[in-house]
Amino acid sequence: MGDAAERWSERVTRVLAPNPSPLTLEGTNTFVIADPAALTAVVVDPGPAGDDHATRVVRACGGRGVELVVLTHTHPDHAEGARAFADRAGAPLAALAPGWASPGAPDLAGGAPLAGAGVELVPLPTPGHAADHCCFLLPAERAAFTGDHVLGRGTTVVEWPGGDMAAYLRSLALLLDHDLAHLYPGHGPVVDDPRARVEGYLAHRHEREAQVLAALEAGDRTPAEVVARVYADIDPVLHPAAELSVRAHLAKLVGEGRVRAEDGGERFRP
Ligand SMILES: [Zn+2]
Repeated sequence: MGDAAERWSERVTRVLAPNPSPLTLEGTNTFVIADPAALTAVVVDPGPAGDDHATRVVRACGGRGVELVVLTHTHPDHAEGARAFADRAGAPLAALAPGWASPGAPDLAGGAPLAGAGVELVPLPTPGHAADHCCFLLPAERAAFTGDHVLGRGTTVVEWPGGDMAAYLRSLALLLDHDLAHLYPGHGPVVDDPRARVEGYLAHRHEREAQVLAALEAGDRTPAEVVARVYADIDPVLHPAAELSVRAHLAKLVGEGRVRAEDGGERFRP
């Protein structure tokens, strides 16, 4: 497969991890960021464990030392190899998730800009896909590293109970506050129409929510009944995954007082 590194911009190189799947698309995108004149690099999402991928990431640094490693979130396809990579590179690891950051690593929660590798990266906490999810703005390119918040293709997974649909929609709207020209996602290709993509994601979720509400109005009570109606046209093999997504929608609607949960959260009514 040759060298999996690909230059995406003046400052950004994508190194594709060898973990393709239906959820990870071609694999996880590990990013190396450096100003062309900088002597160091910042690495986003070292990806799954594995020496070969780590070696390709080091090679993509082009002789620069790694100054900082940051995580968009701690799902294994992004973070399993992070600690070993940071140790190998002798760099601090920064993450929103409690217990993941190295001692002395910069704090991401407050959104204070990180300076490294001749560029400024601004953490933008974006809970939803996962509670510990964080995007990173790269103002020099009007770009954002979006992890699994927004993908290069298709929609992302927001599954009950790890995902939070209400938080996810608020976090999507946060991206619209910034005048972005490019998104560098955790899976799939660069997104060159960020506003249209984010608005499309919001529309998709609102449409799904309306379908879930309509199913309850029509008399469905359990998540499985809602799935059977709303996802009638997809392979039943995918119904268990669809049920976790429907449960995420239901949890949001319950939280908003628009739906009532009964039987310990196994039955729902409008
Ligand atoms: Zn993820």
